[in-house]
Order: sequence, then structure tokens, then C-alpha cells
Amino acid sequence: MAPVESRAIVLRSYKLGETSKLVVCYTQEFGKVRLVAKGGRKGGGRLGAALEPLMVSRVLFYLKEGRALSLLSGAEIEREFPSMRRDVVRMAYGSAVVELVDRTIHEREKDTGLFDHIERSLAEMDQVSEDELDDALWRFELNLAAALGYGPELSACVRCGSADNRLAGFSPTLGGLVCARCGASGSGIALTTVSVAEVLRLVAVDARSGSTSGVGVRLTRAERDDVTRALHDFLEEQGGHRLRIKSMDFLAQIRRLESAGTETGEGND
Ligand SMILES: [Zn+2]
Repeated sequence: MAPVESRAIVLRSYKLGETSKLVVCYTQEFGKVRLVAKGGRKGGGRLGAALEPLMVSRVLFYLKEGRALSLLSGAEIEREFPSMRRDVVRMAYGSAVVELVDRTIHEREKDTGLFDHIERSLAEMDQVSEDELDDALWRFELNLAAALGYGPELSACVRCGSADNRLAGFSPTLGGLVCARCGASGSGIALTTVSVAEVLRLVAVDARSGSTSGVGVRLTRAERDDVTRALHDFLEEQGGHRLRIKSMDFLAQIRRLESAGTETGEGND
């Protein structure tokens, strides 16, 4: 049997026995696959590097229908993201992208353009200024939701369909914007603030067009955290299961330390 070949983004890898590695990848041709790299832990080198998380590699493997694992025959690095490797904050954003893919995508689903979104988001997170990293993650999350078939309704009220009524907020549970009439107190719908809803609408425009210009609104850290939480809740509600994204917990921890530093004055103790 001849091996198949595909571009792949490494989502995670594990030790397997003394010398081998289990590598979970999202491939452009075959969706998510689990590859066994025999001897993949020996001597590091180019093969080892090509199997590191966040690497875009070309992989060759033996694909067998109905098997959970495939045997890797070779891997070569195609694209790496050097700034992400050097910067722990960028790395956490990139890791959030691959973790989200790993948690929401099941085995061997055919790619619906998601590969390109992942690669573009990692490239953005490698390049953009640090205060644009949130925007890049939000755009990715909206594109991921669309690829999964549950992109949020952001052009009209998700409940009544009206595009004319004043906006009340965004509902992660209903999966879209809610107008003031439907969101009136007593409606029982949990909503974000109007400004979170408006930021989401702007991010969605960028996500669809592939623009990286950002929402162009100056947001406080707390407002950014609200948008991040709304999108996370939305992905959990629509996907129907909890997403424990470790790198996002890590980022939240960094933010808490940063804001504690600002409040007490940096350098003081
Ligand atoms: Zn409505």
C-alpha cells in the first residue's frame, strides 16, 4: 500500500513507549488524524521538529479505513512560526487555536476550509502586535463555528428575525444577537452587554472578509475579557459540551497578574 500525503497542522503529540510518538494532526486532505511515528523520539532532528505542536508539516502516512491510528512514514516542516516559539503569550494564543480544533473536530471529517483558517490564524498570531492577538483569536473562533455549521446570527435578532429593533446584546445560548424587545427584562435570556454584541458584529465582518484590521474600537481589558467569554460560552453552548481550553486558562492567569501589577504599581511590592 502506498502512503498518502497531506499538509498537516500538528495539534498535539505524546510519548508512545520508549522511542515512538503519537501525533494528532489536522490535515488539509483528510481532516483530523492520529499518527504513530515509530522512532519519532530518537535524536530529535528534522523529523522530531516536524512533529511538534503548532508546526505546519507535510506528512506521509498509511491510511487504513476504519482504523483509529495510522502509521507515519515521513514528515517535513513546511512552515513554522518563529515569533510564537519565542513568546509565551503568542504561544498561548496559538495553542488555544489548536486546542479548540482538537476539542471540537472529530476524526476524519472532510476539511471545509478550516485548514486555511487555522494556518492563517497561526500566521497572524505570529505577526500582529500584541494587542491584536485577541482579535485574531475571536476571528478564528467565528470561522471555526461557521466551519462546524453553527456560525452565530449577527445580522438580525436570532429570536424574532428583526434587523430594525435596537440591540440588547448577544445570547450564547440562542446563538446570536437579540433585539431590545426580545431581550427585555423578564425574557429569561442571558445576554452580554450591547458593546460586546457590537464588537462581535465587527469581528464577524473581518472574519468573513479575511481582514486583519481589527475592530478599531479601543477596548478595556475587562471588555476584551467579556468578548472572549461570550465567544467561549457560545462555542460550548452550540457544540453541546464543555471545552476545557488549558491555554485560555493560562492566558487568563497572565492577565490577572498583569492587572495586579498595574494596580499596585509595577516594581513595588
Ligand atoms: Zn427580537
